[in-house]
Amino acid sequence: MSLKYIIVWAFAQLVFITNGLVIADEYTLQRQQMVADIEDDVQITVKYITKKSFNKLVLQAMKTVPRHQFVPAKQRSMAYKNRPLAIGHGQTISQPFIVALMTDLLQPQPGQRVLEIGTGSGYQAAVLSELVAEVYSIEIIEELGEATTQLLTRMDYDNIKTRIADGYDGWPQYAPFDSIMVTAAISHIPPPLVKQLKNGGRMVIPVGTRFQTQYLTLVDKDKQGKVTTRQVLPVAFVPFTGGY
Ligand code: SAH
Repeated sequence: MSLKYIIVWAFAQLVFITNGLVIADEYTLQRQQMVADIEDDVQITVKYITKKSFNKLVLQAMKTVPRHQFVPAKQRSMAYKNRPLAIGHGQTISQPFIVALMTDLLQPQPGQRVLEIGTGSGYQAAVLSELVAEVYSIEIIEELGEATTQLLTRMDYDNIKTRIADGYDGWPQYAPFDSIMVTAAISHIPPPLVKQLKNGGRMVIPVGTRFQTQYLTLVDKDKQGKVTTRQVLPVAFVPFTGGY
């Protein structure tokens, strides 16, 4: 083997090793651009979100999670655009800015346990899983939930636990949760979810219907269990379904 081939071989091994650790892949630059676009959106929405930047760890998680693996193959070239995409079954993977905003609003901390309602593609769960100890995620569409569970297993997200069920009732077996994220729009805040939120915990949820303006709403449960809400930003989410 000539020296040239040995060098090429050694380089290929190096790329393989770094890929194994997900330090870099062919989408790294696109992910960095996506985060730059998110930071631009933060500037545009400062008056709603009342902060000038998102938590650095949240942005780091967005730079790490391979979003292209969570979208259908034919959408892959669009994976890092700052926009929602169709994932089949009439559902969508949220716009990256909204994923970052909702994650930031929960103020995730290492060691926490978070409940997500609406697993969808699994992307939001994957972002949360980079920041907290355990993510519990519920999806109502069986076929979608099963496909996503398999994907998350293949990708070694072993701190994400999934379930196919109507998320209105939460996941009492693992309650209470440090925080809760709902990723489908509903006319009101489900009382079972408020109950399953720890004192001192936070929930983000799009409140509204297809026919009214939906507001991304932050629910705060204080140390005494008193609940207050704040409308953060008008949004457009797919509807919360099920029998509530
Ligand atoms: N978090 C997802 C967004 C998916 S869109 C992602 O990162 O891709 C919202 C999801 O909520 C859809 O998959 C929809 O099927 C699901 N959903 C709607 N109503 C639900 C309910 N009652 N219980 C659980 N999931 C629900």
